[in-house]
Amino acid sequence: MQFIDLQAQRARISDRIDSAIAKVLESGQFVMGPQVKQFEEELAAFSKARHAVGCANGTDAIALPLMAWELQPGDAVFCPSFTFCATAEVIPWLGATPVFVDVQPDTFNMDPGHLEAAIEQTLKEGKLTPKVIIGVCLFGQAANYPRLREVADKYGLKLIADSAQGFGTTISGRHPSDYADIVTTSFFPAKPLGCYGDGGAVVTNDAALAERIDSLRVHGKAVASDTKGADFEHDPKYLNMRIGMNSRLDSIQAAILSEKLAIFADEIEMRNRVAARYNEKLAPHVMSVPAVAEGVVSTWAQYTIEHEDRDGLQAHLRSKGIPSAVYYPVPMHMNVAYEHYPTGPGGLPVTEALAGRVMSLPMHPYLGEDDQDRIVEAVAGFSS
Ligand SMILES: *Cc1c(COP(=O)(O)O)cnc(C)c1O
Repeated sequence: MQFIDLQAQRARISDRIDSAIAKVLESGQFVMGPQVKQFEEELAAFSKARHAVGCANGTDAIALPLMAWELQPGDAVFCPSFTFCATAEVIPWLGATPVFVDVQPDTFNMDPGHLEAAIEQTLKEGKLTPKVIIGVCLFGQAANYPRLREVADKYGLKLIADSAQGFGTTISGRHPSDYADIVTTSFFPAKPLGCYGDGGAVVTNDAALAERIDSLRVHGKAVASDTKGADFEHDPKYLNMRIGMNSRLDSIQAAILSEKLAIFADEIEMRNRVAARYNEKLAPHVMSVPAVAEGVVSTWAQYTIEHEDRDGLQAHLRSKGIPSAVYYPVPMHMNVAYEHYPTGPGGLPVTEALAGRVMSLPMHPYLGEDDQDRIVEAVAGFSS
């Protein structure tokens, strides 16, 4: 049994993927070829947003808007500590300071009340200037973006939705891009929408921001608004308007992603069926099964339970040949590289408790009922 079975999906669409790859090989345009532009259009349409810009990975996708907004030393960026490190990692890249915010005990997503307290505390101390909030769609579920938007507007801050795990999640039918200034995602193979290598993208309704990021991902090349009125007859790649980076998307990955995006909505439904069945069968045997907020559809990047004896249960499952994983055993604010950064008032008690109790079970759209029953039986056998 696999924790995430990528080959099951490959079996479904391997013909289409193989011929899409072959077309790129024949075209010879391996980086930022026409497949990238096509996929960007499909991605924007999927999330009902105006612009999508591909990039090299989901980490760069978060760094790019911070660069576009010219974050600098002395700026504060508020983000959860209960997340993958990339959410926080990009903040010090710009010399800015992450301020860690606690999460809600049911959804594991950023607590808007604690966020507001952290902003107030930062303003009162007067050492850092609040600039950006990064909400995370942890394990596939949209954070409370309507509330996070209100807080962002109240304090004049930008809002990023780090949707590396939750791309495709909706809130009463609306995508996070309806609330956040920009949504970022990762196409790392294990993510719900993954490619066959590294890749990432941003999605936004802000045309100027999308254009700035298009420039930054190609070494700060000149874009239309830079050259307006001027006549520069050479490739705008060689007219550098700002300090950027190399964060291009490969054509092969874009071609693969177009094929995967075509079945993605169906796969999200399949994941939701797997999750609903897990919930029903596991609820009596664990401390908590995942809670999804009212009106939210999760993409179920992970199916994560809480258990008082998490390490014992994990060892028990291992002995039965069932894989599991702990996301995340050490919250960001307790990692060596991040422990000197501030947290919101009162510390992060929910985050710290979750780190000791959470455990993720095998989850992918093609998880069969037999395998699922084996997993449930093993969990039930340990708990009783
Ligand atoms: C995976 C992930 C990222 C980073 O994506 P990469 O493509 O691996 O750089 C960022 N944030 C979250 C929440 C993630 O899960």
